[in-house]
Amino acid sequence: MDDISITLWRFVRGDLPVADFEAWLYGHQDLEQELGEGLYMELISFNYQDQGELFVLRRKLGAFLRSALKCECVTLADMATVPMGCDGLDKRVFATVRPCKILEHRWWLSLNRCTACGQHWMVAQEERIYDDYFMRRLNDVEAREILNSNRWPDDFSTYERVLRVGRQLSTACRFFDDLAGSLVWTAQDLRKERPDITAQEIADLIGVSSDHADRLLAAQ
Ligand SMILES: [Zn+2]
Repeated sequence: MDDISITLWRFVRGDLPVADFEAWLYGHQDLEQELGEGLYMELISFNYQDQGELFVLRRKLGAFLRSALKCECVTLADMATVPMGCDGLDKRVFATVRPCKILEHRWWLSLNRCTACGQHWMVAQEERIYDDYFMRRLNDVEAREILNSNRWPDDFSTYERVLRVGRQLSTACRFFDDLAGSLVWTAQDLRKERPDITAQEIADLIGVSSDHADRLLAAQ
């Protein structure tokens, strides 16, 4: 994928600050050829302070760029949430993104590589509380460190960290059963992983009250 498309996608997915995008835009007259006159004119005459319209513009540009895609990598934020099931994004992502290294003692974690574009991703599969894949884009040095030296970036190094990302980027599932296995195992695993974690901290991570977390910790 060429540098122009990569930059346009970084803007669409929100990884490139708007001011940087504007500066880049005015320095690239050759964009008109790539985007067509109408879309190009819209981009250069747009009021980038208008947050509501900015959302519409990003969607429009994303739809235009999508026709040239071979995989979903470039559409995903550098730290991305991919819901399990839902709108089928997970199927489209994992049609080309495949695991190439897993760790037995961190069952949620894997290194993945896209067979279409070669992008490496560190993926945390969180199917207990958030029902999401959390994906961190890796550069070549980081991927090599994992493959050659088994040294992983620490974003998903513990289950607590994975849930912290979940809390930031997603919404915890609601459970009909107060003592559902997923809740009990997670609360108790968090305590095992870090014995001084408080019930309140656990409650925040899994989206329940502090009293509820106490009951999960006491469950047999
Ligand atoms: Zn890809």
